[in-house]
Amino acid sequence: MPQLNLDNDDFRNHLYNQSKDGKRLWIYPGRIIGKFYRLRSYFSYFLLIALFGLPWLEYKGQPIFLFNVLARKFIFWGVPFFPQDFHLVALGLVAFLIFVSLFTVLFGRIWCGWACPQTIFMEMLFRKIEYWIEGNDKAQRRLNESPWTQEKMLKKGAKHTLFLVFAFAISNTFLMYLMGKGDWLKLIQEPVGLHIAGFSTIWIFTAVFYLVFARFREIVCMVICPYGRLQGVLLDNNSILVQYDHTRGEPRGKTTSEQSTGDCIDCHWCVRVCPTGIDIRNGSNQLECIGCTSCIDACDAVMDKIHKPKNLIRYDSLNGVNSGTKMKFNLRIGAYSAILVLIVGFLAYLLLTRKPFESTLLRTPGMTFSFDEKTKIVSNLYQIEILNKSMEAERFEISVEKPLKISWVGNPIQGIEQGKMAKGEFFILAPLGLRKNGEKLPVRIRDGEGKEEIIKTSFIQPDE
Ligand code: SF4
Ligand code: SF4
Repeated sequence: MPQLNLDNDDFRNHLYNQSKDGKRLWIYPGRIIGKFYRLRSYFSYFLLIALFGLPWLEYKGQPIFLFNVLARKFIFWGVPFFPQDFHLVALGLVAFLIFVSLFTVLFGRIWCGWACPQTIFMEMLFRKIEYWIEGNDKAQRRLNESPWTQEKMLKKGAKHTLFLVFAFAISNTFLMYLMGKGDWLKLIQEPVGLHIAGFSTIWIFTAVFYLVFARFREIVCMVICPYGRLQGVLLDNNSILVQYDHTRGEPRGKTTSEQSTGDCIDCHWCVRVCPTGIDIRNGSNQLECIGCTSCIDACDAVMDKIHKPKNLIRYDSLNGVNSGTKMKFNLRIGAYSAILVLIVGFLAYLLLTRKPFESTLLRTPGMTFSFDEKTKIVSNLYQIEILNKSMEAERFEISVEKPLKISWVGNPIQGIEQGKMAKGEFFILAPLGLRKNGEKLPVRIRDGEGKEEIIKTSFIQPDE
């Protein structure tokens, strides 16, 4: 079986964007428009519209998504979460981590290539601006190496101005997710002096995004991103990745020179279009490969030209490439998919069965009971807290079974604003001996929608 041509394995000794003496090598990926690029573009437009549009949408006067860490207020798909929901968030995170791991084992780096914000912004926004203003990869290299002329200054000025504008827009959008549309509008409409911290945040975010997309680029994927660095342990020979079919492509060589060459004509188009500058022919599981599919499009175009079948580079597993079998649904994919469905189902169940309010009831610490000799009524004092976790103001009713009674100290808890907590104190009055000493009493808390929670609390009384 033809093997990979790794005679020159110099690529193992340094990063692709680094010279041997450790200097940054600027990558100029060539532009290729093929089937996958088009599909990725459409999908990216959908994601970009969602990302920029969602913070403007509200449901019942609240954002659909909010991650306000400072105010400890979180809204996910219109459902508000509070610090009291920490267990749900923790479980959700664990489920999410399992989901990501299993998804990666099965489908490799599809996330990186198709949905990661870094790739979407870099390849579908900033890179397109660069192609539009400076031209293709060769023109960009020429421009960078040329002396500073008026044309160069104009092109560089226009590009970096647009980069800054989009970095500013992204920064503000992220801020809207953090603080909500209402507070963000206040921030940009009111005098700067009232919002020094907010304005500083906008400009710090803008500077970070600008540097990431104007300078750091592939370094984020190759060095900074923890997910990328985990690929080595998450992927196996059955993971579906962008693969070079070495059984078909090797021995590589110009078609005109040798009769015994494989289908790879060593044209380097796959390398030229790669945004991280790697050669997919050195192996699929390379840390730097973000699964962007550009090399598939490039190689398909080459295969078209030389009248060979496409898919010399394709989505496949390493085992699929080595054994020549087509990728198909197998037991492993079925089992992993079933686990993924279970995890998502479990999360959905947790969210759907989540109570719209949270209550805490405590017999007031340090107090025992009061006893009225005349009426033979025993009373215990309780403290109650109710958090309205719904998106609307709610009325609440707190009750106990007859003949027990509740007598409020001060105003009873009734209406509670959305997302607010109310506290109150009340006595439960019970005829002496109605219940065994220390027996738990059910206290019923019911909201206006009829959803209720029953809390059992202890009730103490004198011995008869
Ligand atoms: S684009 Fe295809 S033919 Fe050209 S070098 Fe890459 S794998 Fe070989
Ligand atoms: S090797 Fe191919 S899929 Fe991987 S990053 Fe480069 S062009 Fe994208």
